[in-house]
Amino acid sequence: MVFKNIVSKNEFLYTKNGISVYLKREDLLHPYISGNKFRKLKYNILEAQKEEHKTLLTFGGAHSNHISAVAYAGKLYNFKTIGIIRGEELGMVIENTLEQNTTLKFAASCGMKFKFITRSNYRNKNEESFISNLKKEFGTVYIIPEGGTNKLAIKGCQEILTSEDEKFDYICTSVGTGGTLTGVINSLKHNQKAIGFSSLKGDFLKTEINKLIPNNTNWNIQLNYHFGGFAKINIELITFINKFNEKYNIALDPIYTGKMMFGINDLIEQKVFKKGTNILAIHTGGLQGIHAMNKKLTKKGLPQIA
Ligand SMILES: *Cc1c(COP(=O)(O)O)cnc(C)c1O
Repeated sequence: MVFKNIVSKNEFLYTKNGISVYLKREDLLHPYISGNKFRKLKYNILEAQKEEHKTLLTFGGAHSNHISAVAYAGKLYNFKTIGIIRGEELGMVIENTLEQNTTLKFAASCGMKFKFITRSNYRNKNEESFISNLKKEFGTVYIIPEGGTNKLAIKGCQEILTSEDEKFDYICTSVGTGGTLTGVINSLKHNQKAIGFSSLKGDFLKTEINKLIPNNTNWNIQLNYHFGGFAKINIELITFINKFNEKYNIALDPIYTGKMMFGINDLIEQKVFKKGTNILAIHTGGLQGIHAMNKKLTKKGLPQIA
């Protein structure tokens, strides 16, 4: 049984300017249902089982950690899985796509079926007419939104922190859709604050999270560490991630956790935190994406991520 109550261990990383940083190793929760995707799927899988669904349907980009996690969870719990994938061109010659794309190849090997749609169509994914068309096409399916974020996902993310973590002043997490950050905020003690590090450009997430939890003020989102936008990366970030791995023997992914750790380090250097502050950063996983990023880096003539 995978989705039992699992607690991940905290690892001490370093003390700098009197600030101590620990890393919660959610990346080690499961080899294929990684980090926060494990937390987000737990109650969704239980709900789909309860409602006696046979099929899970979800959405994602071609390298999505969420697609990978849903495909494996489906295989494990005997659900058929359907992935609505952004990028119509990927469906033209599916054999070539699978050969070149480790995420989709893995998902397919778990039994996931794909529907490739155009980027503009993908933007409608939350609209009622779009969803009802999917239901017409695929029948009764349990739908999990992009990135896995819904109420049940947030409930799962509320289980990341435990009573052991009450000694930390700040809890840091990377932000994509904001589901993980929302769960973390919901489970904070009165003495704690959460900091989200946005993996994408823009401050719309602040508004979105505010809508979900309007009465909480014990959190903020850092908007300066996206490195140009979602999945954008430069030599400075690559170097940081590789040095981090050398020093602590812990891999960070370039899209989420690498940017968060870079941001934490930078805020400490800017003396944003008081001496004696204890920070707990959450390693949300995502390491399956490194392979695809390295291919992109090779094409650009940039060094590889270790
Ligand atoms: C999906 C993902 C995130 C973003 O989580 P949200 O809940 O969508 O904000 C962060 N880190 C990793 C490794 C992820 O795969």
